[in-house]
Amino acid sequence: MIKEFKEGNIIIKVDHSKCRGLGECVTACPVEIFEVASGKAIVKNLADCIECCACVNACPNKAIEHSSC
Ligand code: SF4
Ligand code: SF4
Repeated sequence: MIKEFKEGNIIIKVDHSKCRGLGECVTACPVEIFEVASGKAIVKNLADCIECCACVNACPNKAIEHSSC
């Protein structure tokens, strides 16, 4: 199941069927956009995103799509 998060022009999609919930994206994001809830990554505070693409690159399961990356 793909969860979509949108704020302005930015869209992040997290494929929960691929997410293993180990939180590499949480660690990689410099502005704390991600958290793991019930074993899956979710997005909060998306307005703070600086479009650095660290989350996409950090995910070992290719579960994250970012409209800017
Ligand atoms: S693109 Fe960068 S700032 Fe935005 S959610 Fe990913 S890691 Fe965080
Ligand atoms: S890095 Fe990928 S697999 Fe790991 S918690 Fe984040 S979205 Fe899920």
